[in-house]
Amino acid sequence: MSSDLVVEDLVAGYGDAQVLHGVRFTVREGEVCAILGPNGAGKTTLLRALSGMVRTRGTITLGGVPLAGRSPDAVARLGVAHVPEGRGTFMPLTVEENLRLGAYVRRGPAVNDDLERIYQYFPVLKKRLKQAAGSLSGGEQQMLALGRALMLRPRVLLLDEPSLGLAPLVTRELFRIVQTINEEEQTTVVVVEQNAHLALGVAQQAHVLETGRIVLSGTAEEIRADEQVAQSYLGYR
Ligand code: ATP
Repeated sequence: MSSDLVVEDLVAGYGDAQVLHGVRFTVREGEVCAILGPNGAGKTTLLRALSGMVRTRGTITLGGVPLAGRSPDAVARLGVAHVPEGRGTFMPLTVEENLRLGAYVRRGPAVNDDLERIYQYFPVLKKRLKQAAGSLSGGEQQMLALGRALMLRPRVLLLDEPSLGLAPLVTRELFRIVQTINEEEQTTVVVVEQNAHLALGVAQQAHVLETGRIVLSGTAEEIRADEQVAQSYLGYR
């Protein structure tokens, strides 16, 4: 059975402040979907809604299984891993401890195999195994956050602004690894990203979110070709 992520009539916010106003889109299993939009549009809130971190109304399903209304822990157990903006790594813990925490919903010898798998994607993490996460560079910390999320063996990876604060070279490397993970493991990816060039470079589908509503959807090529997107997000025309 396919594990499409289907979002319908999604409403979410904080207290009385409604941020998302009826968002609807589908990410097909194994696809990369980019969410673009200006500051404050609700992109982070959308990812939080998908991972159960904010209250929602509407429908979110993964392979037909309802996710909406479940706790973040329950959503993680159903295969959705969220790499938040700011990464969420535990600074005093070592790289290895952070990675093992990522597998908290799983146990057993497979966890060691998965650590090896993560080191293949991120050889630098193997070198830094016993170092505190707080001593890593920004790029290494983002890799650690991604590695930790992969320890969950997710079916869906939610990435919030992975390029934030990173040098262009590091960002490109990070996106290359995301693309490899997507291709090798058929992991579905939803990525929120200010760097629209990079995001559209790895995505098949993209949506533009403005003031809590999707105002434009299409293939990455269609979105790239859109006059308004080009002006607002790609910096030309
Ligand atoms: P950015 O690119 O600046 O992170 P965004 O598109 O991710 O923007 P959100 O962070 O989802 O947007 O914010 C959408 C709206 O929700 C904003 O008006 C913001 O002020 C508000 N908001 C975000 N987090 C909270 C919170 N914890 N409590 C109350 N309001 C919040």
